[in-house]
Amino acid sequence: MSILKDSLPALVPQHFSDKKRYYDFSTYLKRRFGCKVYKVVIDAGFTCPNRDGFVAKGGCIYCNANGSGSGKRKTSVREQVLQGIDFVKKRYKAKKIMVYFQAFTNTYAPVDELEKIYKEALCHPDIVSIAIGTRPDCIDRTKLEMINQFVSDYEVWMEYGLESSHDRTLTLINRMDTLAQFEKAVKLTRDYDMKICTHLIMGLPYETYADMMLTVDRVARLDLNGIKIHNLYIENNTSLKKFYDDYGFELLSKEAYVNIVCDSLEKLSDQMVIERLNGDPVKQHTYLPDWSLDKQGILMDIDKELERRNTFQGQKYKATNT
Ligand code: SF4
Repeated sequence: MSILKDSLPALVPQHFSDKKRYYDFSTYLKRRFGCKVYKVVIDAGFTCPNRDGFVAKGGCIYCNANGSGSGKRKTSVREQVLQGIDFVKKRYKAKKIMVYFQAFTNTYAPVDELEKIYKEALCHPDIVSIAIGTRPDCIDRTKLEMINQFVSDYEVWMEYGLESSHDRTLTLINRMDTLAQFEKAVKLTRDYDMKICTHLIMGLPYETYADMMLTVDRVARLDLNGIKIHNLYIENNTSLKKFYDDYGFELLSKEAYVNIVCDSLEKLSDQMVIERLNGDPVKQHTYLPDWSLDKQGILMDIDKELERRNTFQGQKYKATNT
């Protein structure tokens, strides 16, 4: 038994790992599938309605040329999956795999084309889960009905980016979708046996602490299955860099971000899986802030702050929602 659970035996939920005061994704996957599950990230070559002019042009101001993905689009979906699996098997002796459609908007195509792509990805017997990242304004019942064919054999995660619950911010960052569209996508997806994850960015231009906490409260009320949170960082060659240089706004310090994350974790249900709490900036592409490159340091500081407060995910959840 760890020091953490020895010190808080009655309080820290038993489904957390011994090492974390929040319900981290790898612990969830181990509990769900009986062993570590490795993610294979796919770039299926989609674009985004926020880039091609269907909704807007230019994309979200922070989005890079890879559509917030890793830029791995070099081969077919099937080859990417098989190469990714081969890699994690050789390196980590992986036994179970989650296929993750990350880059751009992974439901932005006709439904029969989507079906072909998802089926192509599910090409290995060790795949146990599929995660589909998309915009909330790019899902509808026809697409969900098609995706629903996979739930009997795979755990399906629908990942809807929200970033902020404030429509004025979503307009400012040229995201051009709305809280209402997000809530509609969540409501629709609830009709199916799929997991729902969202994504928030802390420190968006001109958002106050109160704005960010209101977003967290709104998400907490929806009782989603998972969440990803990261701080805003500025990449070179993005509209955000130009916006920052031209107009300026306050970037979060590491300490402020850590506090915001800990405050957020306290407000979220202890059943909500925390998929990530840091971004994935790459040194040569990152303009500011430098501390966002210290991904492990951010996680360690969050752990330390939760311990200092003697708190954990969900501690204020009921108080927030009653
Ligand atoms: S919705 Fe996603 S892919 Fe599209 S511009 Fe925004 S961050 Fe990039």
